[in-house]
This record gives sequence, structure tokens and C-alpha cells, in this order.
Amino acid sequence: MNIKGVLFDFDGTLTEPGAIDFQAIKEELGCPADETILEYLETQPAARRTEQMKILEQREEKAAEVSRPNQGAEKCVMGLKERGISLGILTRNSLVSVKKSLDKFDSISIDDFFTVITRDVSQPKPNPDGVLRAATEMGLSPSRILLVGDYRFDVIAGKAAGACTALLVTDGRPVMKLGDPEPDYVIAHLEEVLDIV
Ligand SMILES: [Mg+2]
Repeated sequence: MNIKGVLFDFDGTLTEPGAIDFQAIKEELGCPADETILEYLETQPAARRTEQMKILEQREEKAAEVSRPNQGAEKCVMGLKERGISLGILTRNSLVSVKKSLDKFDSISIDDFFTVITRDVSQPKPNPDGVLRAATEMGLSPSRILLVGDYRFDVIAGKAAGACTALLVTDGRPVMKLGDPEPDYVIAHLEEVLDIV
């Protein structure tokens, strides 16, 4: 498939799932359980949204403090680097939280990633904007990029941008919905990325 770049989702992909309790944050923000937080906040009046964003950022930073590298994450990133694969992170989270979480990794740091695209700089997934932006920054056609993520938004954004996608399923729970695009690969461990690329 001639993959030249790998774009990782952050929470639940490079970090162990479960650090962020989205349901608890939703309750605190008054976001209905079946809606997604960032999209819900977009519908709120500006003043309220500013307040809610502050709460969200606080919760995310707290979660970053207790987050841990996912199994095989460092091995995967280092293995890809050794092969000269360009690496990036694409997340709906903020840059502050990503930096805080990456500080807890032993052998990799933010400098190992050519680009880190957060909601601060692009339309959040499932919008393909961040994938396209990363591809431009990496100087690669989206078709040469593999997007690795643990949620349907990762696959939707990746496919919409024309990238290759790998869905990481660690607990066996289905995350895709009827009508969603099919991921190109379904993997149970991050190290499997090294077999794809
Ligand atoms: Mg995720």
C-alpha cells in the first residue's frame, strides 16, 4: 500500500483507553449522552460555551495527568521512526493535554511527531480537515497516510480524506455504526501497525 506517513489518534490509541470519562464530562456540561461534546458545545450560546470549554479543558488536563501510554505505543512509534515513516498526531483534544500526556511516555516525546493537529488548529474529526492538513504538512498525498484510531470518527475522517485507516479495537466492543465506512484494517494491538506499513 506504500504508506509513507502514520497519523495517530491520541486518547485511547497512543494512550490507554479510559483516562477520560466522557460520560461524566457530558453530565457536568449538560450534554445529552448520545451527543458528542465538541459538537454539543457548538450549539451553545457564546458565553455559556466559553464557560463549558473551561470545564472541558480542566477535565481533559486532569485526565492527561492520570493517562498512561497504551500497550505497544512506544514500540510502534519507535519502529515506524526507524523505518523513516513520517509521524503525526490528530486529536479532538487540546495541545496542552497532549503535551501533558506525552510527558509520561518513557522513550518517545512530542518531538518524534512531525505534526500534532489538535482542535486548536483544525475542525475536529469526523471532519477530514485535520487529516488533509496533516498530509499537506507532511508533504504527502492522503492516500500515502495510514490513520490509526480507536473510534468511528477516526475512520470516517480518514476515509473522507482519502487516507488508509486502521481501527484499533482493544476491548472487542464495536464502535462503528451502520452506514459508516469500513476501516481498511482492524487491529487488536498497536504493534500490528508495523505489519501493515
Ligand atoms: Mg480515541
